[in-house]
Amino acid sequence: MAQLSDDCFAFGGPMMSVDEAVRIIAARVRPIEDVETVALGAADGRVLAGDIAAPLPLPPFTNAAVDGYAVASGDLPRGEPEAFAVSGRIPAGPSSGEAISPGHAMRIFTGAPMPEGADTVFMQEDVQIADDGKVILPAGLHPGANVRPAGEDVAAGHSALTAGRRLRPQDVAVAAAFGLTHLNVKRRIRVAVFSTGNELVSPGGRRAAGQLFDSNRFMLMAMLARLGCELSDLGILRDDRASLAQALQTAARRHDLILTTGGVSTGEEDHVKAAVESVGRLVLWRMAIKPGRPVAMGVIGGTPFIGLPGNPVASFVTFVHVVRPTVLTLSGAAQQDLIPMPVRAAFTYSKKAGRREYVRVYLRADKNGVPEVVKFPREGAGLLSSLIDTDGLVQLGEDITQVEPGQIVGFLGYANLI
Ligand code: AMP
Ligand code: MG
Repeated sequence: MAQLSDDCFAFGGPMMSVDEAVRIIAARVRPIEDVETVALGAADGRVLAGDIAAPLPLPPFTNAAVDGYAVASGDLPRGEPEAFAVSGRIPAGPSSGEAISPGHAMRIFTGAPMPEGADTVFMQEDVQIADDGKVILPAGLHPGANVRPAGEDVAAGHSALTAGRRLRPQDVAVAAAFGLTHLNVKRRIRVAVFSTGNELVSPGGRRAAGQLFDSNRFMLMAMLARLGCELSDLGILRDDRASLAQALQTAARRHDLILTTGGVSTGEEDHVKAAVESVGRLVLWRMAIKPGRPVAMGVIGGTPFIGLPGNPVASFVTFVHVVRPTVLTLSGAAQQDLIPMPVRAAFTYSKKAGRREYVRVYLRADKNGVPEVVKFPREGAGLLSSLIDTDGLVQLGEDITQVEPGQIVGFLGYANLI
């Protein structure tokens, strides 16, 4: 399990910027070290544990890029088309290492190895076949055309996949092209997830008047699963310090991260803070971010703890900026900066300077097909529908106070955030 010092998330200032939060997490969370071996078919989404240098060049041999006729570039027609006798036929597949005779062409197909001595291929669409069976090749083709040299894609020995990469389908393809069957990856981190609040009932339970079904826990677990975590669903904890403390302490022994939602404000019925303090160490991060309220960060028995706010949108946004970097760092994954894409705003908005705001927006194409973003009409941090009917968040930096229609703003699509 992760072992962190109690005060690792201590923070001096009254308000923390989002960038500072990400920096503190990257500096103070230690990645897990356990490595396991998985088959290629199970490697998507896993974090690569070590660099992989190409054991062979890609492509492994020089081959034809098109169906056509291979020749030596020294024989290329100059000025006028020329007829060549066709001395052989090379389909794709195992080859006995054929060679071309001077002044001849060879029939060749896409992916077939180039015959010894040939270095240029005419596309079959560009040639004519004479009555005597010779092939008439036009002038003007440059030497080396339509050939894929060995190693043009990846040179042998090149460090093609590096440690910390979260494998995507195309990364798995490169490993397969190297002939690898298994990869060394970091073990999945184990995350315990709780909701807190006497007003919450699990879906399927009996909901009394004044209660609502717990939605955050399922949203958070789905987001954690997409980040490759192994999950323990530890249900709903009542607003009671002693039982919270007990549950947190038990969870800390078996997990790499504890995540809760709700109960981290400073009201009398917010008991998470006191519970964490009784079994570990807690700091409240007041982040200069909207939506979002204080996020609790702490350590219980060496295991990091994050307490997210209860309002669903605040929970979602703070997950992206605090939990996501923590999970990636713990998992041994290289941090991926969230780079907002420039798009045109189709809305007016005012904000205070000094804090970062995330505005829920949907994308639409204007009459020329150029994308623009439209703001969800309401702003409450409790509106789940605002996350359903939008495509992502517009990030408004600390310095911005006003957005006008037509202004270029930075857009983060949900697909890139989770
Ligand atoms: P809290 O952060 O505990 O003060 O909760 C703030 C608001 O979020 C309250 O209206 C809660 O009812 C609501 N809330 C807290 N936890 C959840 C949850 N797991 N699912 C849905 N709503 C929640
Ligand atoms: Mg509560």
